[in-house]
Amino acid sequence: MTALSQGGACGTHGVGTENDGSPYGEQPGEKIRTKMMKEEWKDELLTGMAAGNEVRFFAAYTRELVEEARQIHGTSPIATAALGRTLTAGAMMGAMCKNDSDVLTLQFAGDGPMKGLTVTANAAAEVKGLVREPGVILPANAVGHLNVGGAMGHGVLRVIKDIGLKDPYVGQTELVSGEIAEDLTYYFAASEQIPTSVGLGVLLNKENYVEHAGGFIIQLLPFAKEQTIRWLEEVLAGVHSVTEYFADGYSIEDLVHVLLGADAVIERRMEPKYKCDCSRSRVEKALISLGRKELESMILDGEPVKLHCDFCNKDYEFSVDELKALVK
Ligand code: ZN
Repeated sequence: MTALSQGGACGTHGVGTENDGSPYGEQPGEKIRTKMMKEEWKDELLTGMAAGNEVRFFAAYTRELVEEARQIHGTSPIATAALGRTLTAGAMMGAMCKNDSDVLTLQFAGDGPMKGLTVTANAAAEVKGLVREPGVILPANAVGHLNVGGAMGHGVLRVIKDIGLKDPYVGQTELVSGEIAEDLTYYFAASEQIPTSVGLGVLLNKENYVEHAGGFIIQLLPFAKEQTIRWLEEVLAGVHSVTEYFADGYSIEDLVHVLLGADAVIERRMEPKYKCDCSRSRVEKALISLGRKELESMILDGEPVKLHCDFCNKDYEFSVDELKALVK
């Protein structure tokens, strides 16, 4: 079990900014390939069980939502890859939440030039996120990929689960590589004691738009048999990049069956979305929470107040009269 939980081949799927050609031609997936054109692919998140209910999986195709995030934040290719991988993981981890009101936050903090990023998700697989230095640019890494790990540097991953209790649950682990997927694989093993394989990928085209994005989270249930664990490790050892499958015409559903077999059962289909939950009334509440004194000093300044949402880049402006109305 440890081999799976500690990453090994499984944790190395944070790649996918380049298509290295396809080693998958001989896979059984060839027969179940739907050969859809990517224009027809909608963002989709699948959850289900495999290997006689010994394995649970989450798989997501997230091109649209990652491209939306890229446009909102004007991210550089490295930042697009880092944010896109984390948004994809966030959508899947959001789907793990038990209650509709649960909120999950992934916080990466590193000493590299990107400094870190934050993604928040809910049980409906709605995500939002931001990168601390969205314009970060670095040379490609040793294998010719976007150097997400180098941009992140050393640091920590914090997973915050707000399930409506007085204090949220916070799990924290050291970053393994800063490549996101490996860091999450390690988080699940070390903090949640669940042997997990995380694969994430963002493929950009020549103009640096998002061509494909997606990923999977595969978890062994406590009673998984030794042979199931070995089988899964062998399968995952052959996976180098999630986006190579998409580039080869495999849909997210095809990917599930290629990885987990034709008898993997899809139990739920969701539509992951980039969605910010800010609103004028929330911003009003935040202003009121500053207190009467602070508001009165803003009114005395005689200038409208502008507030900015970093997650969706929306501006909220309050005139002096509107501020006065908040004090009443
Ligand atoms: Zn917003």
